[in-house]
Amino acid sequence: MLAKDETRTAASAEIKVIPAWAWALAGIAFVGAQVAFDLFIGREPNGPPPWARPLLGLLVGLVVGCYLLLIGYINRDARRRGMSPVLWTIVAIIIPNALGIILYFVLRQALQTACPRCGHVMHPRFTFCPQCSYKLTPICPQCQRSVGVNDVYCPHCGNSLRSQAAPVSSPPTRTITEEAQE
Ligand SMILES: [Zn+2]
Ligand SMILES: [Zn+2]
Repeated sequence: MLAKDETRTAASAEIKVIPAWAWALAGIAFVGAQVAFDLFIGREPNGPPPWARPLLGLLVGLVVGCYLLLIGYINRDARRRGMSPVLWTIVAIIIPNALGIILYFVLRQALQTACPRCGHVMHPRFTFCPQCSYKLTPICPQCQRSVGVNDVYCPHCGNSLRSQAAPVSSPPTRTITEEAQE
């Protein structure tokens, strides 16, 4: 149940990334497809039979709408991952058969995080902030390498983490999107 809820929360958070202009374009495309199939394509002599018009309009509208939403998502998502939004939006649009979109999801980098102390934007797997040396993840007191929050022994040097003071827990880091919305 919990995992399902988490998945749903993550999915709705991702949907919020899609900008308003992409929703507007998708809506226009969806309505446009209904109108096109009803008024123009359906009336042609070799066009689809009347019963197929609403179905085809619905199908084409959904496919084109989803395509536009994905392009909008990539435009915003690339920015918060330190990738070029312009480049990836163009790639998603010009490479046919949605291959540009697939390419983006294959190659996209991890979400960047902002340092809680100085706000510097960096790779999420950093242990220390490169600008202010803020400790971002728990580290082993003996070898100073990053360890998991629930680790009992250091996976690098075998040092017991339980006997020592608990490793410094990682502070809640904010993603760039959250920062941009403020
Ligand atoms: Zn910092
Ligand atoms: Zn260690």
